[in-house]
Amino acid sequence: MMGKLVIISGPSGSGKSTVLRRLGECCWLPLQPSVSATTRPPRPGERDGQDYHFLSPEEFHRRREAGEFLECKEVFGAGYWYGTLRREVEAGLADGKSVILEIDVQGGLAVLEQCPRAVTIFVDPGSRAELERRLRARGTDSEEAIGRRLATAEEEFRIGENHYRHRVINDTVDRAVQEICEILQAEVGGTNGCMKN
Ligand code: 5GP
Repeated sequence: MMGKLVIISGPSGSGKSTVLRRLGECCWLPLQPSVSATTRPPRPGERDGQDYHFLSPEEFHRRREAGEFLECKEVFGAGYWYGTLRREVEAGLADGKSVILEIDVQGGLAVLEQCPRAVTIFVDPGSRAELERRLRARGTDSEEAIGRRLATAEEEFRIGENHYRHRVINDTVDRAVQEICEILQAEVGGTNGCMKN
């Protein structure tokens, strides 16, 4: 059985991080989350090399120039860069694992261009109103940041609807996790979704 490249996106507040954490615990398939690099400072509790590779802007751009990213971009216009490291993806696939990219939809589209058969899953909070409720309930963002995340979400919904193969409504975490595991089970096998293989 061969691993696949799996792109999972969803608006900030869709609950995709919780879903993915649980997926790793509950799904029997060999999965490997790809740890992205970012110039954003760690939030309390986040660990370098586990949640992200936290890089200085200089180091990030050095790696970018060296072609180490499969894709990278500035997210939210807040001045922070995020990127998928090629070595994270290649190491996992070579190991026979399905590599999970938790990235924004623009990053997802950039990866899809290079790996057209990657599995794409859009995690949907169910409704705009539910998304807004969750963002406020988290209590981590300013009003301005919430407004920015909601505006970004509109564009994400549009790209998700038009370009992602699967849409999973995260109404309850356990159900969403089960649905994603079933999608992966059906998709795993054959080529790994990246052109070279
Ligand atoms: P956060 O700062 O809340 O961890 O993430 C902000 C946004 O960056 C999220 O939408 C997340 O999906 C996205 N993101 C995280 N890693 C990457 C990456 O490697 N590439 C891209 N394009 N987006 C990423």
